Amino acid sequence: MRTSIATVCLSGTLTDKLQAAANAGFDGVEIFEPDLVASQASPEEVVALAARLGLTLDLYQPFRDADGVTEAEFEGVLRRARAKFALMQRLGIGTMLVCSNVATATIDDDDVSASQLRRLGEEAAAHGVRIAYEALAWGRFVDDYRRAWRIVELADHESVGTCLDSFHILSRGHDPAAIEEIPGSKIFFLQLADAPLLTMDVLSWSRHHRLFPGEGGFDLGAFLGHVLRAGYEGPLSLEVFNDIFRQTDVARTALQARRSLIWLEDLVASTSAWESAPDPPTSLPAVAEPSAFDFVEVRADDTGEVDVLLGQLGFTFRGRHRSKDARLWTEGPARVVCNEQHARDRTPTMAAVGFEVADPTASAARARALRAPAVYRRTLANEQELPAFRAPDGTEVFLGPPASSADAAWVPEFEGGHGGPSALLTGIDHVNLAAPWQCFDEAVLFYSSLLGLAAESSQEVPAPNGLVRSQVVRSASGSCRLALNVAPLAWDASGFPQHVAFSTDDVEAVARRAVDRGLVPLAIPQNYYDDLMARFDLAATEVEAMAALGLLHDRDASGDFTHFYTATIGGIFFEVVQRRGGYEGYGATDAGVRLAAQHRPGLASH
Ligand code: MG
Ligand code: MG
Repeated sequence: MRTSIATVCLSGTLTDKLQAAANAGFDGVEIFEPDLVASQASPEEVVALAARLGLTLDLYQPFRDADGVTEAEFEGVLRRARAKFALMQRLGIGTMLVCSNVATATIDDDDVSASQLRRLGEEAAAHGVRIAYEALAWGRFVDDYRRAWRIVELADHESVGTCLDSFHILSRGHDPAAIEEIPGSKIFFLQLADAPLLTMDVLSWSRHHRLFPGEGGFDLGAFLGHVLRAGYEGPLSLEVFNDIFRQTDVARTALQARRSLIWLEDLVASTSAWESAPDPPTSLPAVAEPSAFDFVEVRADDTGEVDVLLGQLGFTFRGRHRSKDARLWTEGPARVVCNEQHARDRTPTMAAVGFEVADPTASAARARALRAPAVYRRTLANEQELPAFRAPDGTEVFLGPPASSADAAWVPEFEGGHGGPSALLTGIDHVNLAAPWQCFDEAVLFYSSLLGLAAESSQEVPAPNGLVRSQVVRSASGSCRLALNVAPLAWDASGFPQHVAFSTDDVEAVARRAVDRGLVPLAIPQNYYDDLMARFDLAATEVEAMAALGLLHDRDASGDFTHFYTATIGGIFFEVVQRRGGYEGYGATDAGVRLAAQHRPGLASH
């Protein structure tokens, strides 16, 4: 389908925005009036630039406070409109967005609004353009798309149609199903935005927190389905007001925006209701969700301290890579690669996460279609080549085939170690990554769209130096869970510790074995254990035993969770977790205690 983006979504000058939109592969743009007014480029220069970039100019927006006004005021509206229609002729733009009145409406009457829209429509027709009337979620009288459509119907003019904006409809909880009652030819324009599910006034929510599709909590697949079933044939256009996108790299944001529409088109394409449509949505190579984590890779100049920690957790040294400066440690199906290549002066950080996917070739094709940047690593003869892509947070994501019951196919590339004995660990439960604040939403979309993971609701965890925003994306089966975190400003993103949590069916045995081998678990305060007794009615002896091993504990209605953390080395630490029953959380209270225990004043306070 044709795609478009409102210039307000992007940072920079109007010409920067047009360049970025074209480079990201958009077909057109909506011209946001303040961007044009502030631009040094004349309308004719904008037209010439757009033509050179192969962009169409799809919409001029917004035209405010037009309807529900007194006749005296409407004279002023017509005068303003004539000037804008003349400007649109210079720009060659055929459609103007007219928002429902917010400020000047005094007459709450559909007939009055309809008659005024009809007269605007006549004026538009005289200039060879048309108007698309949109109900703002905070319109003075008209704040519902169904009422806006009723007014358009009453206006009954071929140059008057409606504009649907997913934010205005879904933020108010209005049922989008009635969109299907609007003739497609009267839906003059479609604006798409997602948003986090927040409880706040809709104006502030809209102006500051809109997100690209797939990054928030709205069901945009269902929404777009209604619009397409209505017979809409215009472009899918993004209109996202967001404080972060206004200041981040324009090329990167444009690509993120484009990815969101590729993902959304695929979401609706799979319903196959539009095979005969003139411009049907394009689908991506279908992939099953990953069945397991394949491996994690820690990279550092010297990973020696990580090797010690892994030994204490029960991992076996499986050998050195035959051609790379990397070592493999395994414990059952949990695999950790310690890589010292290209890591001069680096303290240990999480460099890569491998996923086991049913069809790595299809998954890689999907990633490329979503314009994920490929990662190239030098591979030598006879080595398994796993496709890899760089996530927005910098993590390299590898896509490997499911491991056999014995081991992953690439494991024999590591030589000179020991075989893997029977194991207490049953795999990798979750991986916790840090994303810089400016690419958090992009990271959520990246992982969910590439891998077919679903986002859960986000949480905020208090740390001594800030609130850590945390978002889990996971497979439906729970076999792969990624927690994405925004580091507080006191940390630079590369310094905020990330972690791998290994799963076990006997966390006490793993902890005891680790302590016997010299592990000093993260120090958890006695106050935590006193609170634990109060919360869960545990015996003092039970809690003392947990404290001795640094174990933490949480429960919910369906089960419980016992776990412990290691100390942090550079930018990484490990966790071992045992889930019982249907517990699906991560010990939310415990994460705050953990962040306080990890806090070393002065270390990360720049
Ligand atoms: Mg809008
Ligand atoms: Mg964790």
